[in-house]
Amino acid sequence: MSVIDELVEANRHFADALGQVERPALPPRRRVAIVTCMDARIVPARIFGLEEGDAHVIRNAGGRTAEALRSLVISQRLLGTEAVMVVQHTDCGMLTFRNEDLHAKVQQDLGQDASDIDFLPFPDLDDNVRADVELLKGSPLIPDTIEIRGFVYDVGSRRVREVS
Ligand code: ZN
Repeated sequence: MSVIDELVEANRHFADALGQVERPALPPRRRVAIVTCMDARIVPARIFGLEEGDAHVIRNAGGRTAEALRSLVISQRLLGTEAVMVVQHTDCGMLTFRNEDLHAKVQQDLGQDASDIDFLPFPDLDDNVRADVELLKGSPLIPDTIEIRGFVYDVGSRRVREVS
């Protein structure tokens, strides 16, 4: 059985156990969007005590806000979120390579030129959280009324620390 078959099977148990939801509301109840890394050790619902319907969670490699901007505009303009929590984390894979390294690996593994792609790695975690928060605060697409705060999640202690 492939891992995807295992997940489909797990979903069957999940749905059987919990049953039908009565008209779940589309806009996030708590009016917040979380931008975070795709890292498997980050489980936002558990870390922040979220329930179904509470929040948007926008994920990508690193939890980079530049890549999340499209989704944030949709979240705010169409679905009423009023706060953004940027959560990056210790031991992030994005701290371990440079663009040149991945460009070379893509060339070697796939025979493709990806040198026009910025994979958005970063060398310093706290600095990067600050820069990603500033990017949102400086964006004309994100109004000043939106609360924007940046955090580092420690994958060991499981605690968040506010950075900006
Ligand atoms: Zn990460």
